[in-house]
Amino acid sequence: MSYFRPDTLANALDLLAGHEDAACLSGGATLVAMMNADLVSPSALVSLADIPELRQAGRHKDGTVYIGAMRRHRQTAFETDMRGSQTVVSEAAAAIANPPVRNMGTIGGSIAFADPAADYPPALVAANAVIEVASASGRREIPAAEFFTDWYETALAPSEMVTKVTLPPGPSGALGRYHKLARVSGDFAIVSVALVLAMAAGACVHIAIVIGGCGPTPARLTEVEAELVGGDLADDAVAKAGAALAEVLDPVDDVRASADYRRKVAPRLIARAITEAKAELASSG
Ligand SMILES: Cc1cc2nc3c(=O)[nH]c(=O)nc-3n(C[C@H](O)[C@H](O)[C@H](O)COP(=O)(O)OP(=O)(O)OC[C@H]3O[C@@H](n4cnc5c(N)ncnc54)[C@H](O)[C@@H]3O)c2cc1C
Repeated sequence: MSYFRPDTLANALDLLAGHEDAACLSGGATLVAMMNADLVSPSALVSLADIPELRQAGRHKDGTVYIGAMRRHRQTAFETDMRGSQTVVSEAAAAIANPPVRNMGTIGGSIAFADPAADYPPALVAANAVIEVASASGRREIPAAEFFTDWYETALAPSEMVTKVTLPPGPSGALGRYHKLARVSGDFAIVSVALVLAMAAGACVHIAIVIGGCGPTPARLTEVEAELVGGDLADDAVAKAGAALAEVLDPVDDVRASADYRRKVAPRLIARAITEAKAELASSG
């Protein structure tokens, strides 16, 4: 196996195009463990560690936040200026594993790997994020809602890599919150809820509810959302939304929990997320 450490994006993309079955090496938190276990054996490793463009993050004048693919989870959680709906993404980053994993893993590696129980995918869908990908033949942008396509599968084409994630400013006055239920602190999610909520004069003007850990890809509950917009999110409306949700989800049994358990706890996690976010918005005026 060959190992390369290019210092420009163009060189990295040429290397990916020139080596069939080459793999990007970002944090290595997952890839190295999988190589050690003989689960994957790439023909070449292309380290992204020395490409400055991939390490940048910031905020544009219009409020859009950009996060380079090599940004560590710690940086996205605690060192990036996220506001409004964007905070659902910083909260998801803060919920990943533990400090060593957050210091090692990157947003590009996490979303390219597309673990169905990972924390970024539902948060990125709730925040209406856009994922920039590149290959030797150019760049393109993919909405997060279309990026995650199946169990551990994404819209990335062969020889394409994630370069950047952008988060729009989102609706005025919105709040982003991420709730995760795991067996123990630091584990992957059994169920997670990414929520973006905006209220005006006591009524819901925007809500995005996206469930993680309950199927191959993040599940955005657009019909449940449509029922809630315009209402006051009183307890009975939220409970009704939870019941509707149980019908929409199609979880599976796995090592962390049964499908039945997931179907039972997801509505409760959503109700908690909505009730807490509503109270927080009310108290902030
Ligand atoms: C003990 C442990 C606990 C964890 N707990 C959680 C958790 O609770 N929640 C959670 O969300 N995640 C969790 N993770 C996953 C972790 O957060 C990382 O996101 C994950 O390991 C991948 O990121 P990485 O940068 O290390 O990628 P790597 O391991 O370097 O790469 C992973 C895969 O993505 C590909 N890849 C890497 N970068 C790119 C790119 N820019 N473009 C295209 N393909 C790319 C690689 O070729 C490889 O196939 C855990 C990991 C470990 C080891």
